[in-house]
Order: sequence, then C-alpha cells, then structure tokens
Amino acid sequence: MKTRSIERIIAPPAPHMVGNGFRVHNFIPGSGVTMRRMSPFILLDYNAPIAFSPSETPRGVGVHPHKGFETVTIAYKGRVAHHDSSGAGGVIGEGEVQWMTAASGVLHKEYHEESFSRAGGDFHVVQLWVNLPAKDKKSAPKYQAITKDAMPRHALANGLGQVEVIAGEYAGTKGGASTFTPLDLLNVRAKAGAEVALHRPANWHTALLVIEGQVEVNGNAVPTDHFVLMANDGTDFTVKATTDAVVLVMSGEPIEEPIAAYGPFVMNTHDEIQEAMDEFARGRFGVLED
Ligand code: MN
Repeated sequence: MKTRSIERIIAPPAPHMVGNGFRVHNFIPGSGVTMRRMSPFILLDYNAPIAFSPSETPRGVGVHPHKGFETVTIAYKGRVAHHDSSGAGGVIGEGEVQWMTAASGVLHKEYHEESFSRAGGDFHVVQLWVNLPAKDKKSAPKYQAITKDAMPRHALANGLGQVEVIAGEYAGTKGGASTFTPLDLLNVRAKAGAEVALHRPANWHTALLVIEGQVEVNGNAVPTDHFVLMANDGTDFTVKATTDAVVLVMSGEPIEEPIAAYGPFVMNTHDEIQEAMDEFARGRFGVLED
C-alpha cells in the first residue's frame, strides 16, 4: 500500500449555461484536466446548487445527438426529464441516477421535469460523460435507471453515513450500473467525523467532487464545490468529513486509445467524427420533436 497524493485542488471555474436549464461549471475537459488525463471520464459538468424561479415552460436543452460514449446524470436536487428518438423517456428524481449508453447514437432532449419547473426550486445536478472503448462505440443504445430504492448502499461504521455505489464496487457492495470498462462511481454521504478509506489501482484515474459540506483529503481541507484531481503515484487515500458532507468519487482504468472529440461525438479518429456528423445530418439517429 502506498498513499495516493493530491495532484490539484480546483475551484469551480466560471459557469456557463447549457441550454437555459443547466448552469454548469465544467471541470473536465476544462480546468486543464484533459479527456485523456481523466479517461474514461471525459466530461464533468457540475450544476452547483442554484434556485430556479417557477416557469410554465420547462427550461433545459433541446434535441441534440450523442455518439460514442455514455452520459451519467445524477440529480441531487430538482428533477430532470428526458425523451429520446426511440420513444424512451423518464424522470431522474432527487437521489437518482440515469446511466445512458449513447454508443451507436441517440437523439435526445433534457429538461426540468414539468412539476418541478412549475414550482421552481433548488437545482443541483452532475453530468458525467464516460468514454467507451472502440469495440463498444457502435453497440446499441440503452438506459440504466438507478432509482433511490434500487441504489446499492454500504453503511459506514458507527452510523456515520453511507456510500452509494452507483457503479463499480465499494467494500464488497456492487454498483447499480454495469459498465463497459472497470470503474467506480461512488456517492459518499458522510456525517461529520466519518473517515472513508479508498483504495484503487495506482494507474486508475481518480478524482473527487465535493457536492455538499467540507472534507479533508489526506488531511488537506477541500471546500464545497471543489474538484480534487488525485495523482497516480499510489493506491490509498482517505476522505474525512469535517462537516456533514456528500462527495462524488470517480475512479477508472484509463482507456488507452486515441480520442477524437467534436461536441456531442467522441470517437477514435477524425474520419469517424465526420461519419457521425454525416449520420446526424442524414437523420440516422432518428427523429425527435423539440
Ligand atoms: Mn445530452
């Protein structure tokens, strides 16, 4: 066992709007954390808590494609509705996660759920993009919905909270979502004083996002809404909650393949990006009304 050190603690960069419904701080690939540096996690948009006023017309982002990867949407506050070109749709409620495998291509839209939009209120959401290896980029699209009731949970000692295992594994508890490459996605919900030990292979790209409260990582204070990029110099590190805290932990084996990315398409070569744009232009991802 060797301690994994902190490479950088990153304050939230200036936010931007995605459509009119998501006000996000982009940590990956912004903040100097490239897609390759955090592979298989190639995008992290963090909608830090913000109150939306009531709106009869749900805010959000209109019809757009994705191809070559997965989108993972985690709702901490507020509710997100989605619809896609296969006719599928659903709502991601508070404490729930949607793991969408876009793979060969989907067309979808993401909005504040109608009743949430009408009432207004606090909105706090993470969207993470997980890359796929070349061999899986053309597989069929699918959804995994991890509802609150179905979320696998590992209780921390002395009643000091729990670790929600969205994907991967923690202390023998297996994740709710299946993945194409080895990775862990954990939501640590810790009461003040809880200490969580994490250990993963040194080559796995690993980072944390402090969703609520304040923590110490290997004894270093990290405030709310900050991102911690861990080095690849060791296996073990600790997260201690100095207040009641929620921390999103991501760790995964890098996908050692070329990345060609253009907006919502993430492939291996420029030719494949061109092909994806042609498919989109020709309506190959299906049809969806705005
Ligand atoms: Mn999308």
